[in-house]
Amino acid sequence: MKFLTLEDGLLGVLLETKVIDVTEAGRVLGAAPGVQTLAQLVEAGDETAQVVWQLAKHAAAQGIACRDYAEVRPMAPIPQPRRNLICLGKNYREHAKEMARKMGTSMESPSHPIFFTKATTSVIGPNDPIPRHSGITTKVDYEAELAIIIGRGGSGIPRERAMEHVFGYTILNDVSARDLQKDHQQWFLGKSLDGFAPMGPIVAHRCIMPAPHDITISCWVNGELRQHATLAELIFDIPTIIATLSAGMTLLPGDIIATGTPAGVGMGFEPARYLQPGDEVVMEITGVGRLRNPVA
Ligand code: MG
Repeated sequence: MKFLTLEDGLLGVLLETKVIDVTEAGRVLGAAPGVQTLAQLVEAGDETAQVVWQLAKHAAAQGIACRDYAEVRPMAPIPQPRRNLICLGKNYREHAKEMARKMGTSMESPSHPIFFTKATTSVIGPNDPIPRHSGITTKVDYEAELAIIIGRGGSGIPRERAMEHVFGYTILNDVSARDLQKDHQQWFLGKSLDGFAPMGPIVAHRCIMPAPHDITISCWVNGELRQHATLAELIFDIPTIIATLSAGMTLLPGDIIATGTPAGVGMGFEPARYLQPGDEVVMEITGVGRLRNPVA
């Protein structure tokens, strides 16, 4: 089951190469599913997701409210998250090492997950240009990441129940101003500039995702492969992330948790290769799809 947010902010379903407008399909078929947006669907949960999926299949079979995916310009799946995006730093060993070499910090992998957040106002959609903010930074970098979308909220979630709280997954580019990240010590500002969280376009329901070692995450800049890893390389896996966060902090439906980036960011090269005007950044995750953004 794959979902997206259409140009008008309403819920869509991706069925192979077709996109179904769920609101329109519900109206024509007299079967409104009770949710209008992807954020509402995430909160409503798995049963409603099944209802929406079946409605979309019926509509597609009759050619109702559907068009080619190539004609759609999706927004970010949750364009206005209810609170900051939660992110992990240094969650792949080789990336932790490349950052340590450049920042002059410890080469050790972290003993505990490192959490930080990005402002909600940093979210942009697929194909939206990534602003360079050239007045305040000269070191804009990319980070391809798998992002978890929390479905059922909760606190004190044990590792073995963690996956029940995952609605699905999307792609997030954790764009980072490396100079601000370094100068201000706390990463919040350098990670939160407007447009620094391109996201989407697809939210893949957890039921269709392969096992972690079969999920690859890749990033190309201008067609050149820069990052490539499998999810099995995460230092802290998804159940650990959810159990750790929720131990004393309530997770909410629609929370977005970016799981960290593999090695190969621009800063890791010698000399560093930061994003330049006109660059094209493409990210791909098995089972989820592809996120593309130009650089302004
Ligand atoms: Mg990151």
